Amino acid sequence: MRFEFTAGDVIEFAAGLAGLFAGLRPRLLVAATAYAACLRELSAREPEFGGLLLGPAGHPAVTHFVPDLTGAAAPSSFTVGAARLNEILRQYVPLGLEGKGFAHSHPSGFDRLSPADLRYAAKLLANPRNDAAEVLMPVVCDGRFLPFVVRRGRRRAVSAELVVF
Ligand SMILES: [Zn+2]
Repeated sequence: MRFEFTAGDVIEFAAGLAGLFAGLRPRLLVAATAYAACLRELSAREPEFGGLLLGPAGHPAVTHFVPDLTGAAAPSSFTVGAARLNEILRQYVPLGLEGKGFAHSHPSGFDRLSPADLRYAAKLLANPRNDAAEVLMPVVCDGRFLPFVVRRGRRRAVSAELVVF
């Protein structure tokens, strides 16, 4: 079967998609490999465990998940291994990847970001070295991936539309 677009078709098709997505809630785009790795790594350990979400610089997609093996886990809080995360970032920046956010696991039933999580996101956004408009803060809880996003200047997290590609 042949399937072709002429240039005009493509523009119309793209414009249609843009209209479809305009005004909708934010999307959390994540590659199937990173999504599977995140669920697998976080489900395999006791909460709260976390890892860094990385993706191509200048594009919102997440393509890599790197577990943080140095964060000190506690039943209802977590401390991010900042030194380790910065070390990971330094490794990936030359590859054209940048940090998009942080995924972590919650104990069963805790399917929202905690006040401590929101403070952590606000702190990341307040760092003058970080110019991102939003930080991805998905939570893995009871085997589910909950796609939260914290935007600059907002005090509450938004539940994004999850797009696995
Ligand atoms: Zn949390």
